[in-house]
Amino acid sequence: MTTTGEHVPGDEARVIDAVPTGLFIGGTWRPASGGRTLTVDDPATGKALCEVADASPADGMEALAAATAAQASFAAMPPRERGEILLRAYEIMMERIDDLALVMTLEMGKPLAESKGEITYAAEFFRWFAEEAVRIDGGYAVAPAGTSRFLVQKQPVGVCLLITPWNFPMAMGTRKIGPAVAAGCAMVLKPSELTPLSMHSLAAILAEAGLPDGVLNLVTTSEAGAVMEPLIRDGRARKLSFTGSTPVGKKLLEQCAEKVLRTSMELGGNAPFIVFDDADLDKAVEGAMQAKMRNMGEACTAANRFLVHRSVADVFAEKLAARMGALTVGRGTEEGVQVGPLVNAKGREKVTALVDDALEKGATVVVGGDPVDGPGWFYRPTVLTGVPLEARLSREEIFGPVAAITVFDTDDDAVAAANDTEFGLVSYLFTENITRALRVSEQLESGMVGLNTGLVSNPAAPFGGVKESGLGREGGTVGIEEFLETKYVAIGFGG
Ligand code: NAP
Repeated sequence: MTTTGEHVPGDEARVIDAVPTGLFIGGTWRPASGGRTLTVDDPATGKALCEVADASPADGMEALAAATAAQASFAAMPPRERGEILLRAYEIMMERIDDLALVMTLEMGKPLAESKGEITYAAEFFRWFAEEAVRIDGGYAVAPAGTSRFLVQKQPVGVCLLITPWNFPMAMGTRKIGPAVAAGCAMVLKPSELTPLSMHSLAAILAEAGLPDGVLNLVTTSEAGAVMEPLIRDGRARKLSFTGSTPVGKKLLEQCAEKVLRTSMELGGNAPFIVFDDADLDKAVEGAMQAKMRNMGEACTAANRFLVHRSVADVFAEKLAARMGALTVGRGTEEGVQVGPLVNAKGREKVTALVDDALEKGATVVVGGDPVDGPGWFYRPTVLTGVPLEARLSREEIFGPVAAITVFDTDDDAVAAANDTEFGLVSYLFTENITRALRVSEQLESGMVGLNTGLVSNPAAPFGGVKESGLGREGGTVGIEEFLETKYVAIGFGG
C-alpha cells in the first residue's frame, strides 16, 4: 500500500454531500416509502460514505407509472431537441469531470485517473447518441409486383427498464440512457446498490440539461429482484436492457418471456488473450496490462485466460510480472495509485479462492498471489504460470488483478482453448502475421476481438457478446436500433 500524497478530505465530503440521495421519480427527488435507506460504502476503507433512499416494490411501480405517463410526449419531441439534451448533459459531465470522478472513486474504488477516463467514455455515449438522434431513418419502396408501396418507419420501443452493474457505474448507465433518449424512450433505471451515487449524480445532470420530468426515473434499492420483477412482468414496459452477470441475465430473460419484452443483455465474459510466437512481446505486455488491469480486473472485457505460445511464454511471464509487481496499490484517491481495492469482501474472497484452487492444481506464483492486509478489499497484482485449463481460474470470471498463464503449441490448440467456454464477449490476440491475425479473428467465438490491442470499448463501435455473454449491441450505429421498433405500412396503389 502506498501513502504517496493524500487527497483533500474536505473535497470528499463536499462531493458526497452534493449527490442527491433520494429516488428520482416523475422529475422529483423524494425519500423511499417508509423512509428506508441503504448505506453506500467506500471499498478502500470499508467505511460508510452516505445513505441513499432504498426503493420498495411500491416505489418501483410509481416509477413505472411516471415513465409510462411521460412516454407519448417524449416520443413526440423533435429528435434534434432530444439530441440537444444529450449534448448539454455531455458538456455538463465534462465540466464537472473532477467531482464526478471523485464520487466514482469513493463509491467504487478505481484510481482517480481511471474514474476520469470512465467519465469521458461515459459522456461520449451522450455525444455519440446526440448525433444519432437525428439520423433515425426509414424507407419507401415499390413492391415487387408494382401494385403497392412499402413505407418503413422507426418508432421508439416505448418504456424501457434499465439495470446496470457496479463495475462501470457511469458508463454502463450512459450506454443505455443515451440511445434511449435519442430514440424517444422513457425509462426506469436501477443502478447497483453498491455504487448508486454516479447514477444519482447523472440523473440530476440530465434534469439540468432539460430532460422532461418522468423520462428518467431512478430507483436504487437493496431488493433488486423484488423491485424489478413486477415491473418486468407488468407489461407497460416494452424493453429490458441489462448489464450484469450471466446467471442474473438468464433469470431476467425468463421473466421477460411472460410479456415478450425486447431485451438487450450485456453479460459476463471469460476473455482469452492469445500471444503467438511472432507477437511483438512488448506490445503484447502493454496490451495485457490494459486488458487485465483496467478497473483492477473487474471488467467484463478483462483478459481472463492468457494463452501464450510455449516458445515465448517464459519471457512474456517475466515481462508481465515485472510490470504487475511494480504497480502501486492503494486508495484510489491517493496520487500515484494505479490499483484500487476490489468492490467488496465477496469479490476479494472469490479471487482468493480461485487463486488457491489454481495453486492446488499445479500453478506457480510469479508475483503477488495474496490479499493485502489492512482495511479495504485490496488484492495484490498477481501473475500465475502453468495454470491448468481445468482450474476454476480458466473457467470462471476472475474479476480481480490476476493474470493466469497457460501455454499452447499450435494455432489450432490456441483457438480450441480460447473457444472452450460458454462465454463469448471479447478475445484478444497478438501476432505480427496478417494472415494469422485475420484467420484467427474469424475463428474466435466472441462478439469482439482486440487485435494487437488490449482495449476494445469505444462509444462509436458495436459492443456486445455471443453465446452466454449476451444479446444485442450497445454503441456504434446499431446501438440506437436496440431502442427502436420497425413499423411497416403497406400502401395500396390501386390496380
Ligand atoms: P449482477 O450481480 O448480475 O448485478 C447486475 C445488476 O443486476 C445490479 O444492478 C444488481 O443489483 C441487479 N440484480 C441482481 N439481481 C437481480 C435480480 N434478481 N433482478 C433484477 N436485478 C438484479 O452483476 P454485478 O456483479 O453487478 O456485475 C458484474 C457482472 O456484470 C460481471 O459478470 C460482468 O462481466 C458483467 N458485466 C458485463 C458487461 C457487458 O457489457 N457485457 C459490462 C459490465 C459488467 P444489485 O447490485 O443492487 O444487487
